[in-house]
Amino acid sequence: MARKDAILKLHQVLVKRRDALRQALAGDLSLLKELRDQQGGDVVDFALDSAQDEISSQLAEVESRELSQIDGALERIREGRYGLCEICNKPIPLARLQALPYAQSCINCQRELEASGGNWDRDSMLSDNVEFDVP
Ligand SMILES: [Zn+2]
Repeated sequence: MARKDAILKLHQVLVKRRDALRQALAGDLSLLKELRDQQGGDVVDFALDSAQDEISSQLAEVESRELSQIDGALERIREGRYGLCEICNKPIPLARLQALPYAQSCINCQRELEASGGNWDRDSMLSDNVEFDVP
């Protein structure tokens, strides 16, 4: 599959996941469950497991963090720089994007970040990308 097509597909995955997370944050887990039945494991699973274990503000935090990462990825798709490592600017391998559709950096840069103790990936996304209904 061409990279472009793969990214188109990932775009659909991201949009679906975003909708499911938004619903879940509004208290409706049905779409999230549906997605898990269709796709199996990974991040949705993680959010769901947390949902069952502890319905709490911690769950909302996990979900809103993922949501902001997804929003960031969708923004990068719109701007045409999706799939490029934000640090070294090289294309992130498709396999990594398929495993983690909102990856912002290639595995090498990610490792270096983790080695340096930074939570760059998460914390930089938390600040201003979350779209909530602010009163
Ligand atoms: Zn990189």
